[in-house]
Amino acid sequence: MDCLFCKIIEGSIPSKKAYEDDKIFAFYDIAPQAPVHILVIPKTHIASMDEVNTDNADVVAHIFTKIPEIAKAAGIVNGYRVVSNCGDDACQTVKHLHFHILGGTQLKGEMC
Ligand code: 5GP
Ligand code: ZN
Repeated sequence: MDCLFCKIIEGSIPSKKAYEDDKIFAFYDIAPQAPVHILVIPKTHIASMDEVNTDNADVVAHIFTKIPEIAKAAGIVNGYRVVSNCGDDACQTVKHLHFHILGGTQLKGEMC
């Protein structure tokens, strides 16, 4: 499958790792939009939030249990935002489910 984030998981495209276990991978965004900008992804290919269902929801739950740990390990101390862009209207550019962790500064109040 020609998926950028699957290639990052397998290591054929390099990335700066923030966290990894048997189910998920976290790495620093190549074009950070905050002082700390990490992407957290499932190791199984799920195209977007729109593809989450009862069969694959466990890995999404696992991601959410690990996000506080990943944020803390990255040095975020005063709060952060978690974002998942889904589909064209949300400007999803990589069609492999990912959660942005944005922090390390006072973020803007508006969401869009
Ligand atoms: P989206 O716009 O789909 O929500 O987020 C995709 C994110 O992937 C963007 O923030 C973009 O900067 C990041 N990205 C795209 N290509 C690469 C890459 O090759 N390496 C890393 N680390 N991040 C990437
Ligand atoms: Zn993929």
